[in-house]
Amino acid sequence: MDDRDGKIWQDGKLIEWRDAKVHVLTHSLHYGMAVFEGVRAYKTAQGTAIFRLEEHTRRLFNSAKIFQLTIPFDFDTVLEAQRQVVRENKLESCYIRPLVWIGSEKLGVSARGNTIHVAVAAWEWGAYLGEEGLSKGIRVKTSSFARHHVNVMLVRAKASGNYINSILANQEALTDGYDEALLLDTEGYVSEGSGENFFIVRNGKLYTPDLASCLDGITRDAVLTLARDHGIEVIEKRITRDEVYCADEAFFTGTAAEITPIRELDNRQIGSGSRGPITEKLQKLFFQVVAGEAPQYQHWLAKV
Ligand code: PMP
Repeated sequence: MDDRDGKIWQDGKLIEWRDAKVHVLTHSLHYGMAVFEGVRAYKTAQGTAIFRLEEHTRRLFNSAKIFQLTIPFDFDTVLEAQRQVVRENKLESCYIRPLVWIGSEKLGVSARGNTIHVAVAAWEWGAYLGEEGLSKGIRVKTSSFARHHVNVMLVRAKASGNYINSILANQEALTDGYDEALLLDTEGYVSEGSGENFFIVRNGKLYTPDLASCLDGITRDAVLTLARDHGIEVIEKRITRDEVYCADEAFFTGTAAEITPIRELDNRQIGSGSRGPITEKLQKLFFQVVAGEAPQYQHWLAKV
């Protein structure tokens, strides 16, 4: 992805895409401690708008706080940097990636004595789990890798190192011919996908795991809000694997994955084996909201 035209915001300046480089002795590259965000901007009738920009930026600052990384820019500067990269790259709809990392002054586990850096890039990125996945649903396999225990990795943070676990799980699922992995927590309850939160529908009610071992997803929160506002009861609770097999519907949520139906888990068909009606309703609502077609949720959209 490095050989492109365009601009990337790095440490306060817009620079050429090809010049946005770091040294090979960068601390974060060796030990995996960096924090990042995944944000999306959508085309609306009033111009391009970033979905829940403030919430994503708040999560980035909280992720940094958890690891005691001091971001050397204030909140508004990082907000504006995200708007700027969308504008400067003339993107109508895109994915935005802010990253905070530890510099290359010194190595060793302790990050002390290193500078902290920030970059924001943006590019076009279609359906993360495929266009067909959005309409027909995907095939998922329960991972042999457990999700992080909350006392081992801090899952409230969207931290680069946490994704080693995601890569292991996703790699295993893809190698075995599935589209994505579903990770259980260390006690065996359903947690989340490698880059998505997880939901099931049973008897018209929506269920999702509580936040003990999964990321506090912003799409998850949007779906919970949309469901409640539209009269669908939502319950956050521990979910077992066999509960999923017997669910009427299941889906993943995430900035990249948006709302992706799940048609199969571990070779058991879920419900009718295609996108279920509540999933479809929430998906439709979500796409109306991000396209600026739902006045009630305009406050979730930040114009660029
Ligand atoms: N869980 C994990 C592990 C993720 O990487 C993501 C994507 N950021 C999510 C859940 C969904 O979070 P969000 O809706 O905020 O993108």
